[in-house]
Amino acid sequence: MSWDFSTEPEFQEKLDWMEKFVKEEVWPLEVIDTDLAGFTRLIRPLQDEVKARGLWATHLPPEHGGQGYGQVKLGLMHEIEGSTIFGPTIFGNQAPDSGNSEILALYGTEEQKKKWLEPLLAGEYRSCFSMTEPAPGAGADPTMLRTTARREGDEWVINGHKWFSSNGMIADFLIVMVVTDPDNENQYARASMIIVPKDAPGLNIARNIPNMVSEHEPFGMGHSEIFYEDCRVPVDNLLGGEGQGFLVAQMRLGPGRIHHCMRWLGQARRAFDMLCERSLQRTGFGGELARKQTVQNWIADSAAEMEAARLMTLHAAWKMDQEGPSAARKEISMIKFFGAKVLHDVIDRAIQVHGSLGFSSDIPLEGMYRAARAARIYDGPDEVHRVTVARQVLKGYTPPEGPWPRDHIPTRREAAQRKFAAQLEAVVHGLQRRSWFRARTAEVEAG
Ligand SMILES: Cc1cc2nc3c(=O)[nH]c(=O)nc-3n(C[C@H](O)[C@H](O)[C@H](O)COP(=O)(O)OP(=O)(O)OC[C@H]3O[C@@H](n4cnc5c(N)ncnc54)[C@H](O)[C@@H]3O)c2cc1C
Repeated sequence: MSWDFSTEPEFQEKLDWMEKFVKEEVWPLEVIDTDLAGFTRLIRPLQDEVKARGLWATHLPPEHGGQGYGQVKLGLMHEIEGSTIFGPTIFGNQAPDSGNSEILALYGTEEQKKKWLEPLLAGEYRSCFSMTEPAPGAGADPTMLRTTARREGDEWVINGHKWFSSNGMIADFLIVMVVTDPDNENQYARASMIIVPKDAPGLNIARNIPNMVSEHEPFGMGHSEIFYEDCRVPVDNLLGGEGQGFLVAQMRLGPGRIHHCMRWLGQARRAFDMLCERSLQRTGFGGELARKQTVQNWIADSAAEMEAARLMTLHAAWKMDQEGPSAARKEISMIKFFGAKVLHDVIDRAIQVHGSLGFSSDIPLEGMYRAARAARIYDGPDEVHRVTVARQVLKGYTPPEGPWPRDHIPTRREAAQRKFAAQLEAVVHGLQRRSWFRARTAEVEAG
């Protein structure tokens, strides 16, 4: 029996260093106006410092250049990194690269690891995961996949239309989910993953799709619309086995989702700090906003919801470390929709307490708010995760026999009377004796 919420002192020291480093060195990057080349120049020394401290790409095992820290420690690190959109880039575990590196490490051939994984981990390459398609293709329901790949000689020829492939424009390679066996009776065995280099013939990255965040998405880090038009890549670029696309996707999406939830803890914490600070700073109606009960309610509700989200996230991470991503499906889905709501609500309250300043772009809350809205959609919309949770929960239940619910009181009363019949009889007998005795005493007293 062991329940332990403590962090070992050596790791806490690393977290303390990270906290200071992220605030002092990474947050300032948010307000610098520069281009991709300038940004790359700025982040290299920071990434080198992280590498020198052994905190680079910690989600991967040592044989793949990481520290093998596992998901719980990664969760605690992401909580700090996630306070700024650039944190994960500085620590070598930003999406979608972190998820892509995990599946390359798990399913890549030696050659694929050398060609794609190593430069990805070194921070020299960026990558993209290209699965979602516009309607009527695959979105929340991945079995609706329409993009295909057929074999021609020693090449795969890919045709299809994808969108919202994050970082498509800046990726050195894309991992694309395609149908390779459309007639397979098992719909989960129809798809495969293929690695597409950015210069593959027939790869047409049309645009970054304008969206609620896009105006502020720097350095081409947008969500791309991509046409695969007889796009040709060598057969060796198949990642995992033919027909294993869903299996590989599951291994990627589980950790990928929880990594998002971990980053949201950092975003929510930052908004919460702003909420508390402003409530103490701003006065009106004869006192600080912090003295108004409504504002106190926002603070208390936010603190409680963030604590719940944190524990749920770390518990899901712990379960993944103990039993693997598949075993933690329910926990991951639960925190995916719950965490997205907490993130949204805390930022919303922080905006409100700042009034018009909160609505302005002079502080980061409005940008955080727009980005938070997407959290309810990407990596599976809330509704689908709720379905997953409900299904998993219902596996632990069976319908009660007969027409009544298990807790039907008249039925239970009858059963209870049968169960305790002997004792009840003794009680009844006792009561009868007691009332006879009381009546007799009354007679004697009356003379
Ligand atoms: C910022 C951002 C980044 C993204 N990055 C990537 C990426 O890198 N790679 C990639 O491949 N994709 C990416 N996506 C796409 C994302 O994963 C999809 O948007 C998501 O899976 C939902 O698919 P869809 O948009 O086609 O919604 P649809 O499938 O059209 O669903 C629309 C809505 O229908 C409802 N719905 C769907 N199913 C159910 C159900 N079973 N029960 C109840 N309601 C339901 C939900 O409300 C849902 O929002 C990104 C999206 C965003 C917003």
